[in-house]
Amino acid sequence: MNLNKAKLIVQKYGGTSVGSVERIKEVARRIELRKQEVDRIVVVVSAMAGETDRLISLAREMGDTPPLREQDVLLSSGEQVSVALLSMALTERGIKARSFLSFQLPIVTDERHAAAIIKDIRVEGLLHSLQEGEVAVVAGFQGLTPSGSITTLGRGGSDTTAVAFAAALDADYCEIYTDVEGIYTCDPQIHSFARKLKKISYEGMMELAGLGAKVLHNRCVELARKYNVKILVRSSFNNNEGTWVCEEEEDMEGALISGVTYKRGEVKISVLGVPDKPGVASLIFIPLAEMGINVDMIIQNIGRNKAADVTFTVPEEELEKALQAVQQVAAEIGAEGVDCDRNIAKVSIVGGGMRSNPGVASRMFQVLAREGINILMISTSEIKISCIIDVRYTELAVRILHDAFELGGNSV
Ligand code: ADP
Ligand code: ASP
Ligand code: MG
Repeated sequence: MNLNKAKLIVQKYGGTSVGSVERIKEVARRIELRKQEVDRIVVVVSAMAGETDRLISLAREMGDTPPLREQDVLLSSGEQVSVALLSMALTERGIKARSFLSFQLPIVTDERHAAAIIKDIRVEGLLHSLQEGEVAVVAGFQGLTPSGSITTLGRGGSDTTAVAFAAALDADYCEIYTDVEGIYTCDPQIHSFARKLKKISYEGMMELAGLGAKVLHNRCVELARKYNVKILVRSSFNNNEGTWVCEEEEDMEGALISGVTYKRGEVKISVLGVPDKPGVASLIFIPLAEMGINVDMIIQNIGRNKAADVTFTVPEEELEKALQAVQQVAAEIGAEGVDCDRNIAKVSIVGGGMRSNPGVASRMFQVLAREGINILMISTSEIKISCIIDVRYTELAVRILHDAFELGGNSV
């Protein structure tokens, strides 16, 4: 694709890219250069690096479970700061710019605080600003409910804001600027042999993002696929070629395994000695579903005395709520007890080629076993295998799996 022929593009700059005053000025310089080639530019920005974490800790100082509505008011302030600063930096360079917060457009979401879904976005304000020759600088991550409360889209959600605008404005493509040069076969920050991909299909990227590759927010890839928005992931620190996320093309790699991912931030809960009779699993999981808790992996082992242990994982931030509910059910059904383990990580290998190649799972288990890494839980689908392991071995596991499946080498 000829990047300079575009008429309207959406660019998104992540936290590290706007992490300091110098970085924001550098982003303004990049936008100025781009403005010479592309007529209309909408820029979506995240909060400055570390700011959202800082605000979350501040909220926790008020209590263990701060009301999510108020937490969203607090967290959205991070992006408010960066849109204002970037607009100032652009103005300073002689580029007309205007910042937009979610309520000024608005970006309408559902009512799910901290994990809101965009329902509708109004672009009239942006179109007017672009018409005036301004760069429109939009706060990522935040939205507004129909009743007027501020929401946030979940960690990493600015990517989704950017793709939503690219879809609504029918942009030529959406550039996601970050602190790595593109999408790699595994996190390049933990393995120097990670290989940068030239292209990846929406489906492949959805798998990687869903299994922990936080370089793109999960929902942004779903949206991009739905509205056929091409995404270019690239670095804001250099001009190297990035990775295109787009429809599958014939020349795309049909590898056995396309990537290795990891996900921290989940916890494992076990209900021990559950009576082995019909209906108990539903008694455990219905209350969790009713509370909107996302259960990820589930396993059940039946012991010889006809009692089962049911083990599952939930996001760390849901632990307290989940434990309370599960302890109550455990008492009601006469289970022996409830156990939890916070020190876990999920390591996954992903790839469409697995469908037609038996033996991938056993190879994965062998590789982990050779390094003495114990597997606590396993789940598989047609195109991925995930293992829960001790969190201490996360990086080691990613590296040895990446090497064992020979994912390094030249970029494709
Ligand atoms: P931003 O603040 O720009 O949104 P993120 O921290 O959310 O950046 O995402 C970029 C990070 O994603 C990289 O620094 C890298 O550590 C991580 N990452 C994980 N898996 C991958 C992968 N397969 N390819 C590229 N980056 C990855
Ligand atoms: N600032 C938010 C976060 O840290 C959103 C984002 O960076 O995309 O999660
Ligand atoms: Mg991100």
